[in-house]
Amino acid sequence: MRIELENLQGGKGDFAHVYQPDDLNPVDERVSLTQPATVSGKVRLAGNEVFVNGHVETRAKIECDRCLRPVETPVNADFSLEYISGSEYESSEVAELTEAEMSVSVFDGEALDVDEIVKEQVLLAVPTRMLCREDCKGICPECGTDRNTGDCSCATSDIDPRWAALKNLK
Ligand SMILES: [Zn+2]
Ligand SMILES: [Zn+2]
Repeated sequence: MRIELENLQGGKGDFAHVYQPDDLNPVDERVSLTQPATVSGKVRLAGNEVFVNGHVETRAKIECDRCLRPVETPVNADFSLEYISGSEYESSEVAELTEAEMSVSVFDGEALDVDEIVKEQVLLAVPTRMLCREDCKGICPECGTDRNTGDCSCATSDIDPRWAALKNLK
């Protein structure tokens, strides 16, 4: 969904949309939606700037960092964004101003891409590191066996060398 700024009545407006997971998947190479994403918010124009406030709610799945099994996590994010058109950004006066405020994004001056806003908010909301459980044993780097479901014969590399010597006696 795009919000065309010229369609805003009196320089402001509300928006709301429900995205099906397939509309946005994959959000990136490690994150995808498992439930519809609802987004709603307000847009306000002020001179050459656009302010967007809103809320995104959905559920996403991420791969466990160790065993790559999908883990589901809720996403519940409030956002407050500020945009400035590309041509304004290039004029030095504004560039100086925006350098101090790194939260400002540059856009084409005509429309806001709500798909991109939702994707960005989902990525900000999910943890950068994800484990399916605290003590996930991960995947054996030798044979690829998921060590949570069973041991493999390469597991000997984990054994303390002092015990490995005893094992050879058997
Ligand atoms: Zn895991
Ligand atoms: Zn193995």
